[in-house]
Amino acid sequence: MSAARPPVFVFSDLDNTLFSSARKRAPGEDAQPAALLRNGDVVSYSNGRQRALLDWLARDARLVPVTARSVEAYRRVLLSFSGPAIVGFGGVLLDADGQEDAEWAAHMAQVLGPAAPLLEETCQLLQAAIDARGLNAWARVMHEGGLAQYVVAKHREHDADALRQLGDEVLGPWLAAHAGFRSHQNANNLALLPPGLDKSAALAFLLSRLRSVHGEIVSIGFGDSYSDADFMALCDYGMTPGGTQLGHRLAGQKERTHAG
Ligand SMILES: [Mg+2]
Repeated sequence: MSAARPPVFVFSDLDNTLFSSARKRAPGEDAQPAALLRNGDVVSYSNGRQRALLDWLARDARLVPVTARSVEAYRRVLLSFSGPAIVGFGGVLLDADGQEDAEWAAHMAQVLGPAAPLLEETCQLLQAAIDARGLNAWARVMHEGGLAQYVVAKHREHDADALRQLGDEVLGPWLAAHAGFRSHQNANNLALLPPGLDKSAALAFLLSRLRSVHGEIVSIGFGDSYSDADFMALCDYGMTPGGTQLGHRLAGQKERTHAG
């Protein structure tokens, strides 16, 4: 008799991994709504191939979202998941009933508390630079349950280059003076993350808990963005969609390997 097979868990980013924003990929004939804006408009769609992959994963694996979306934005995703979910860049761990995990919440309150004044300060720096340059952009401190989590800046006309310049000139010097903080940009999202707020930190906690329940598990990380790479690296295997930020990096590395 062979031993029971370990369960397979897929820890998956959502946006541009399981579905795509309408802006990045025009909805084709097989598109189905995947996420809504606050006003109820469809903002993201899945295509037939994305849904086939999702169905395949759901059949044989347990799918755990690992998303930068806030709890509120996560609830506007139209896919349903039956287990836990890591949301808000790892700041919040939801259980299978959609309730906040109390142990992780207590941990994050300790981690994030000291960073709150610095997040406010940096947000004001970004907003002042936006105003001084006349950029059609905004910067905001994102909160969960009254606790400051991270700073996000977006350009209203999706000018990612202007956002990158803003990040380089404002966040660059600030980060050099504040160890542990880091910034991340993917397209029209510029984020400043405090120490300890990390998808990979939340996944490390969840992996340890899942192993205490299930024993050995098979873990697969799935994501499209540089900010997904660290949590994917905690897993036994990694997957990334082609044509994405991380997919391009993989392709670049491959080309350099060939050239070398
Ligand atoms: Mg993504």
